[in-house]
Amino acid sequence: MSHYIRELEFAIDIVEKASRITEWFRRKGFESFLKSDQSPVTLADLASQIYVISQLKEYFPEDGIIAEEENIEFVNIEAETLINKCFNELNLKKLTNLKNFVRFRGKPSERQWTIDPIDGTIGYQKGLSYAIGLGFMIKSIPKVCAIAIPNYNNYPLAIFVAEEGQGSRALYNNKNFNPIRVNQNEKIDNIRLCHSLHYDQPWVLNFAKKIGIKNYIQIDSMAKFCMVADGTADLYIKPLDPDKSFSWDFMPGDLLVREAGGSVTDLNGERLKFNERKCLWTKPGIIASNGMLQKKILELIKINPSN
Ligand SMILES: [Mg+2]
Repeated sequence: MSHYIRELEFAIDIVEKASRITEWFRRKGFESFLKSDQSPVTLADLASQIYVISQLKEYFPEDGIIAEEENIEFVNIEAETLINKCFNELNLKKLTNLKNFVRFRGKPSERQWTIDPIDGTIGYQKGLSYAIGLGFMIKSIPKVCAIAIPNYNNYPLAIFVAEEGQGSRALYNNKNFNPIRVNQNEKIDNIRLCHSLHYDQPWVLNFAKKIGIKNYIQIDSMAKFCMVADGTADLYIKPLDPDKSFSWDFMPGDLLVREAGGSVTDLNGERLKFNERKCLWTKPGIIASNGMLQKKILELIKINPSN
């Protein structure tokens, strides 16, 4: 029985609407900016986050919010006008003082939402794959997630959801949600490996080639977790930057893969932990797999260390 039905239904609705916002900007064009860490952000990231936060403020006013974007200086008057034009065309409520929503973080609470308004912004800018990820945690323990992915495996939109102890489900192309499971592949030479398009490190592919992996799916965003969860892929190896390991990046995918029967660990084989905005690990790198492969891959990484 679902314990978080209200959070789950909210999350599904919100990531779907946020994906309409990001796709609206993709059609109409969007401005891009560089953040202080030199990573890109677009007006679509900000519009998506503003929308999600406005809805959390309305429906879960007592909860805390952990969100990626903080740069209110990019939300000038022209940007506000354009974002409200988007909301208007999509029949979403017009908002005022948009800057306030970007940085609104709710109330201090053990109930917290993580927001990645666009995961894979570089992919988004290039017209490639990206995702919108929403997570819900209590005392930093993942409870619910929803991930929307436009253009997933030739479907115009896929939505993935999971709840702790209740399994994972996916909706492809506006049909019904159905349970998803990881696949049963145990053979290294059959592995389909997902890895990053723009944030990879050479050791991932070097390692994969060395152990005999022949099939690769190179794609941005948490879509890689979704591919492991629904059996499209068997394995995802993610190099980690210690300064950029945030809950909004990994909490939704971690819950989704585990609830689909798979495993997610760091390179030591430890489960990921979350501490408010931070994703914690004991050795930098994430392995997500169908579970059957996890031990083998961890052993092989020990023999062929990443650094
Ligand atoms: Mg992002």
